[in-house]
Amino acid sequence: QPVLAVVGRPNVGKSTLVNRLLGRREAVVQDTPGVTRDRVAYDALWNGRRFTVVDTGGWDPGAQGLQAAVTAQAEMAMSTADVVLLVVDAQVGATETEEAVARVLRRSDRPVLMAANKVDDQRTQAEAAALWSLGLGEPYPVSGLHGRGSGDLLDRVLEVLPTSPRDQFSTTGGPRRVALVGKPNVGKSSLLNRLVGEKRAVVDEAAGTTVDPVDSMVELDGEVWRFVDTAGLRKRVKYAGGTEYYASLRTKAAIEAAEVAIVLVDASEPLTEQDLRVIGMVIEAGRALVIAYNKWDLVDDERRRKLNKEIDRQLVRARWAQRVNVSAATGRAVTKLAPALRDALESWDRRVPTGQLNAWLSDLVAAQPPPVRGGKQPKILFATQAHPRPPTLVLFSTGFLEAGYRRFVERKFRETFGFEGSPVRVSVRVRA
Ligand code: GDP
Repeated sequence: QPVLAVVGRPNVGKSTLVNRLLGRREAVVQDTPGVTRDRVAYDALWNGRRFTVVDTGGWDPGAQGLQAAVTAQAEMAMSTADVVLLVVDAQVGATETEEAVARVLRRSDRPVLMAANKVDDQRTQAEAAALWSLGLGEPYPVSGLHGRGSGDLLDRVLEVLPTSPRDQFSTTGGPRRVALVGKPNVGKSSLLNRLVGEKRAVVDEAAGTTVDPVDSMVELDGEVWRFVDTAGLRKRVKYAGGTEYYASLRTKAAIEAAEVAIVLVDASEPLTEQDLRVIGMVIEAGRALVIAYNKWDLVDDERRRKLNKEIDRQLVRARWAQRVNVSAATGRAVTKLAPALRDALESWDRRVPTGQLNAWLSDLVAAQPPPVRGGKQPKILFATQAHPRPPTLVLFSTGFLEAGYRRFVERKFRETFGFEGSPVRVSVRVRA
C-alpha cells in the first residue's frame, strides 16, 4: 500500500487535516508541541484506492530545537513515504522553519505537495498564494476545520501516488512490518509503550481520539519499524471472557500482515499451550520470528534453571529463533530487539544461489541417500531455492521422499546456510 506522509510544524493543524483526509468527523486535537514521539499510520480510501496516511509527530523540540526537529521529520518522511505532504498555516505564512523544511523537501526524489491550511475565508486565500515562494509548487488551500478543499487535495494526492502499489513486503520501500503478539497479559501493551516512549499512553488519553490508528511507526536503533495492527494494544483493550476466538483471529491477521513477529512470552511462568500455539502460527504463516521472554525482572536463579529445560523440551520447533530476555517494566535489554529483528529478516530475505545449493546437495545425497521405497531408490536430481520470505527449497526427485528425510534435508540446509530467525521450507516435486 502506498504511503503518504504528512509533515509540518506543531499547531499548523496537521492532525485536524489528517482526520479530514480520512473522512472522520471527530478531530484528534494534538496540538501540544512535542507530545508525540512516534508516528501513527492510518488506512485511507479515496475514489476506490487504498493508501496509508502517516501522521508524523516524532520530534522533541525541547531537545534539538524546533527547526532541526521538523527538518529531521521531513527527512524521515522522504525516506519512508511515496508522497510527502507539507502542511503550512496560511494565516501565519512561511516561517523560517518552513523555509528550512522546504530546502530539504526540494531535494526529494518523491513528489511533494503543500497544503495551505486554515484558509477559512477569502482573505487567507490570498495569503495562501504567497506560499508559492517556498518553491514547492502550487499551495492547495484547505480548511481542516471546515473540510474545505480536502477533496481536491486528495484527488491531487492520488494523481501523484504510485499506481501500482509496491510489493507488500518491499525492502527498498517503507519500514519493515513487525507483529507484536502473545497471549493476554504477557506485556504486549507495556512493551509497545516502552518502545514508543513513555509519553504514548498519555497522548492517547489526552487526545480522546475516536480514530484508531491501524499501525504504529516506532523508531528503534535508528530505524523506523512498522508495528502492525496495534490499535488494541495502544488502547489497552482487554477482551472479556469467551472472545479468545476473536483474539486468536486478530493475532493471525497481525502475523499475516507482518514480515517478522515478536512472540512475547512470560518468563516468570511456565510456557503454556497458548504460547506454543502463537509460535506455531508464526511458523505456519512463514514469517520470521523473534521470541521475547518478558518480565525478566521476576526471574530468579531457580526459575532460570527450569526455563532452560523448558526451552530445550518445548521449543524444539523454533530452535532456530533468536531469544531475547527483556523487561517491559524496567526496560532491560529492549535495545536487543532491533538487532534480533534485523538478523531474522536478513535470513528471511536470503537466497542461496542454485550452484552453491546443488554442490551442497550432491555431497549430502552421496553421504546419506534417501531411503528406498517400494524397492526403488529415489534419486534427487536437482535443488533450487524457489523463493525467499520464507526461504523455500524445492527438491526435484524421481520418487517420493519420506517426511523424515525431508526434515533431515531441512536440518542440513540450515546447518550449512544459517537462516537463524526464519522458518525454512522444503518441498519435493516428483518427476517420473
Ligand atoms: P498485554 O495483555 O500483553 O498487552 O499485557 P499488558 O502490557 O497489559 O501487561 C499485563 C501486566 O503485566 C500488567 O500488569 C503489566 O504491568 C505487567 N507487566 C508487563 N511487563 C512487565 C515486566 O516486564 N515485568 C513485570 N514485573 N511486569 C510486567
